[in-house]
Amino acid sequence: MNFPNSGTRLPQSPRPSKQPRSSQPFLAPLPPLADILERAHVVSLPMAVKFRGLRHREVVLIDGPAGWGEFAPFADYTARETAPWLRSGVEAAYQGFPSPNRDYIEVNATVPAVEPAQVPEVLSRMPGARCVKVKVAEPGKDFRDALADDIARVSAVREELSGIPGTRIRVDANGAWTVEQAVEAVSALAPLDYVEQPCATPEELAEVRTQLMRRGIFVRVAADESIRRVEDPYRVADLQAADVAVVKVAPLGGVRRVLQLSADLRARHMDVTIASALDSVVGINAGLAAVASLPKLNDDEDIDVAPAPAGLATGSLFLEDVAAPRSLVDGMLATAPVAPDADRLAALAADGATRDWWLDRLRAAYAQMEAHRARENGESWAPR
Ligand SMILES: [Mg+2]
Repeated sequence: MNFPNSGTRLPQSPRPSKQPRSSQPFLAPLPPLADILERAHVVSLPMAVKFRGLRHREVVLIDGPAGWGEFAPFADYTARETAPWLRSGVEAAYQGFPSPNRDYIEVNATVPAVEPAQVPEVLSRMPGARCVKVKVAEPGKDFRDALADDIARVSAVREELSGIPGTRIRVDANGAWTVEQAVEAVSALAPLDYVEQPCATPEELAEVRTQLMRRGIFVRVAADESIRRVEDPYRVADLQAADVAVVKVAPLGGVRRVLQLSADLRARHMDVTIASALDSVVGINAGLAAVASLPKLNDDEDIDVAPAPAGLATGSLFLEDVAAPRSLVDGMLATAPVAPDADRLAALAADGATRDWWLDRLRAAYAQMEAHRARENGESWAPR
């Protein structure tokens, strides 16, 4: 198997004068709000572990003419920021996904900030995963103590993967380090596929990238938290702040928008990892559809270069979901969409007050979409 960019760093192109931002005609006209509301199911899914302080993840599922869509922006998103989430859900429900280029895609396993002794057990739940993302820089700890733990955890992962060909380790610091700490930590943890969001800001990411390059440490930098809005990836690219963009379908406004963005970023020598934003099985459908539809790339020997392993194996974060979890086979997930089970939808239905709150949020997102559409003459409706 041939992996693109592993341990190599492609030069980035000089910043173009204008950001490539082709707008894709989408759903003219928008489906009526009343129709979306009529098709909406609000469910509350119990989480296996607390995530973003949540014990339950609430999502709106839309049973549309083309399939199921999801609308589930986190509570701290403004109405304006929730519009792309609805755009994504409406795309899945009313337009469906583009035709796939692959039936299975590789995903990464995730190792949270556990003790090294727990690593084998954590990895045993992700059979066949050859790419492992390890959480590092645990919050609330002294830098040096945390780094010692990180080194031990990453070594335990490396040991578990030893002997398996084509394995890769990524680390995710969730923006916790300063530039100096990031350079020190990455030097100690290398070799790595990439370091995800080592520092908080795109400017710091750019500095880490430059310093690593100067020292001859060939570890790529990935931006995750720095990419929340459609504009952000272009800013990260403009600053040459990252080699990889971690992109999530819902906050960026749907599968087609992510495919366009991926093409734009690849044209600027950035790689793309598609990940989930704590989505139910329905939301994961969209992430899988995006990876499945990435164009086929061939290397010098004309071998199809698989997309970067996706961060979509997050189903195990839920105790219960609206359909049976997708099974991971040899580190791969099937890309065909999964529909919710009627029984599970009924059993996991949210209470009346929760349902009302979410439908109000959906109305507010719809209003934002309409307003944006009016401003842009119907060309595109991602918020600015
Ligand atoms: Mg991350």
